[in-house]
Amino acid sequence: MTSDTTALVWFRGGLRLRDNRCLYEALKANTKVYCCFILDDFYMRGRDIGPARAAFLLDTLAVLENDLTAAGSGLILRYATDIPGECAKLAQTLGAGRVYAHRDYLPYPIARDHKVAQLLQADGRDLVLLDDQLAVPPEDVKTEAGTPYTVFTPFKRRWESTLKFEPLMETTGLFHHLAPVPPGLAQPIPVLADFGLTLRQTIETAGEHAAQQTLHKFASLGLNGYNENRDIAALGNSTSRLSVHLKWGTISIRDCVRTALANGAAGALKWLDELAWRDFYYHIGFHFPHVYNGPMLREYSDFPWIDTPEHFDRWKEGRTGYPFVDAGMRQLNATGWMHNRLRQVTASYLCKDLCVDWQRGEQYFMEMLTDGDWPSNNGGWQWVAGCGTDPRRATRIFNPVLQQQRYDPDFAYVKQWVPEWGTSSYPTVPVVEHAEGRRRYLQIFGETAGARLQIRAKGSAVPQIDQPSLF
Ligand SMILES: Cc1cc2nc3c(=O)[nH]c(=O)nc-3n(C[C@H](O)[C@H](O)[C@H](O)COP(=O)(O)OP(=O)(O)OC[C@H]3O[C@@H](n4cnc5c(N)ncnc54)[C@H](O)[C@@H]3O)c2cc1C
Repeated sequence: MTSDTTALVWFRGGLRLRDNRCLYEALKANTKVYCCFILDDFYMRGRDIGPARAAFLLDTLAVLENDLTAAGSGLILRYATDIPGECAKLAQTLGAGRVYAHRDYLPYPIARDHKVAQLLQADGRDLVLLDDQLAVPPEDVKTEAGTPYTVFTPFKRRWESTLKFEPLMETTGLFHHLAPVPPGLAQPIPVLADFGLTLRQTIETAGEHAAQQTLHKFASLGLNGYNENRDIAALGNSTSRLSVHLKWGTISIRDCVRTALANGAAGALKWLDELAWRDFYYHIGFHFPHVYNGPMLREYSDFPWIDTPEHFDRWKEGRTGYPFVDAGMRQLNATGWMHNRLRQVTASYLCKDLCVDWQRGEQYFMEMLTDGDWPSNNGGWQWVAGCGTDPRRATRIFNPVLQQQRYDPDFAYVKQWVPEWGTSSYPTVPVVEHAEGRRRYLQIFGETAGARLQIRAKGSAVPQIDQPSLF
């Protein structure tokens, strides 16, 4: 039976109780609120899922389940291949008139939610989708002409003028509306081995309590110096380490924005810019979903990458012979996280110096990162490869030696991750010398300029708003 006062909160990301818009709205408007998470192949067996991200998710679900149980409810966990069907079935079983979930901005979840809404509606129920993942939703940052921004700086100006200081959504006072998990629906949180995965990395502590601690630590130790220190990978607290929590929603973006605005100093405002980059790439992916399948500018689709398998393997393993690049890759392989400066340097070395297709690097990052997030990862790779939103297309080629001299002058970061560096065990000759790789890349870039111009002249290089595709 459908009930006007019974609701189901469907967690997908947003895996926290604090400042959670969906939970808050559901608890305000209903007297009996259940919470669920539906695991599926998208989370656990997708082509870009690695053990680190899957482990972080399962650990986070365990924390969420504990917190919900302590609040008098629990997490109803399902495993399904037909997510829309499972969601509709669960709403029916629980008698929930409304299903609350955060609004997703990627093609696959958008298509999925469309299906869910149809199934629920056919059964007299509603899907309530609420903006909760971003500081500013995609519709709210548009040019004067009403079109999406494709360049970051003007985007950021408009984004800042739209940004609001939103008060905390106090959910705890409404917990008495949470309902216990009905008998027969309780299920333990699975472990990684259930999915045939083994964790080999040391990853961040999961859950919203760890996220709050991370934010507070950064706010007191790192935020003020962020504008000066953010590129120094060896320095503790040089960046927040919140990306994994923003990815899974174990912290709310509003908590981060409030922290930056309340501080207001130069470091905090610089940090706010980084949060704007995150929104920017989400907006780009929302308006131009073809970016998830290839270059944003289609004129780059046929770029003749060289793609030498051995080069790609040595890059993945952190054995290129450039210690700064190798340190970055080894940090990634060991921890599921890599400092932003290193993400740029390693990505540049792969697609410029080694001339390997950036999409292979994008895929590898997704497999390894705990914070692996399609919009930011794709945006970062397209920025480095020069086929996305960045106006500096060919000239952005990071020099791995100069980058190390500038950002790791005493080799502290290199020594931490490449202990054999400086010994006879470390390669004396890089897999491809930077000068040679750069020359080769620029030559190919120059030789293919005419073909790109032709595509652009036909108009097909201009990003179009595509139909959402599944990936
Ligand atoms: C090739 C490449 C791939 C990347 N892949 C991802 C990814 O899969 N997931 C991811 O969250 N970030 C990605 N980034 C962006 C950035 O490197 C990380 O967000 C950052 O290193 C996370 O560390 P932090 O939380 O300490 O960041 P901080 O410096 O403390 O920044 C705060 C938050 O702002 C956001 N942010 C910062 N820089 C960027 C950026 N350039 N683009 C988008 N958001 C940003 C993140 O949510 C981050 O947690 C990628 C960057 C590049 C160049």
